[in-house]
Amino acid sequence: MPNDPTLVKCLIWDLDNTLWQGTIAEQDEVVLSDAVRAAIIGLDERGILQSVASRNDFDHAWSRLEKLGVAEYFVAPRIGWSAKSGMVRQIADELAFAPKAIAFIDDMPAERAEVSHHLPEVRCYPAERAAELTGLPEFTPKVVTADGRRRRQMYQAAARREDARAEFAGPDEDFLRTLGIVLRIARATDEEITRVEELTLRTSQMNATGVHYSDAALRSLLADESHEVLVVTLDDKFGGYGAVGVLLIEKFEPVWNVKLLATSCRVVFSGAGSVLLRWLADAAAGAGVHLVADFRKTDRNRMAEVAYSFAGFRVEDCGCQAAIPPAPEAGVERLHLTPVAQEAPVTMTVHAVDLRDAAAEGIVWGLAQGDDRGIDGADS
Ligand SMILES: [Zn+2]
Repeated sequence: MPNDPTLVKCLIWDLDNTLWQGTIAEQDEVVLSDAVRAAIIGLDERGILQSVASRNDFDHAWSRLEKLGVAEYFVAPRIGWSAKSGMVRQIADELAFAPKAIAFIDDMPAERAEVSHHLPEVRCYPAERAAELTGLPEFTPKVVTADGRRRRQMYQAAARREDARAEFAGPDEDFLRTLGIVLRIARATDEEITRVEELTLRTSQMNATGVHYSDAALRSLLADESHEVLVVTLDDKFGGYGAVGVLLIEKFEPVWNVKLLATSCRVVFSGAGSVLLRWLADAAAGAGVHLVADFRKTDRNRMAEVAYSFAGFRVEDCGCQAAIPPAPEAGVERLHLTPVAQEAPVTMTVHAVDLRDAAAEGIVWGLAQGDDRGIDGADS
């Protein structure tokens, strides 16, 4: 499970006599065993990130990883002459992981001891255990989601995106337009519920409802015609972000009740959360219904409160609320909106389901096709 404290999220490899046999500073040829190569690939497929902490010349070591055909598997590498504990700490910071989610493998007892001394929560393994790592419980997630299998590619895309942003001199909105962002809002499938569950557990600061719906509760609503379970994904020219939002709506005659809305903090920069609310307001206006969003203030969902307020949701009396049963939990406020048609977004394209008609083809909203910037991969 995502919150299992024993699960390793990133394994950091020493290179000489750990990842490969031999020392590149001393010999031309080093050997990557089939067993270690299999471990690297196996961990990658499970969504466990891998990095490098090595005392070597960066270019020399990295070109060797490329020659061995494994460079692509490593993110945020640290190769240089500083202490291993510092390298491990920098990698953890760059990936935004706590030390307890990090593992370190090195053939030198002194290096492992140095890391353990400064970062006691980092789990350290001797090099001879490399081949058996995939058999250990801490490297074996119970569930590997579609996003999990692509986690490393998502980190690499995020890094390229950051570089592009750092180089871009214009205003934010112009930068966003260069990304060719496509936001997809689709009815969840049974398989997607697992990644959605992971999302609602992880994104508490953006869980606008402050109410958690379990995997089983969401699954049970998939076939219920009065409920919409929607999963939101986001892609841009650098790659996909995977599932970044979930929305649970119960439809009544005069009003749609938003019972769950959570979006990932990974896409805050894109403004996807407010586009999602505007899309919903536009759809509700088209359907001639009001919107009521459940909201319970927590110490972590201030951003969601601001997003609702910005979209015009208020605590106010309206006859439509008589149609909705009382909130399931104490402390849930009901924020009301009489929706009006919205301007399409200018920074992204939205591909969405038609909430009025389950059988209808999806709608496209936002940057028009044929836009002169040309949006690669904008077709679904
Ligand atoms: Zn109303």
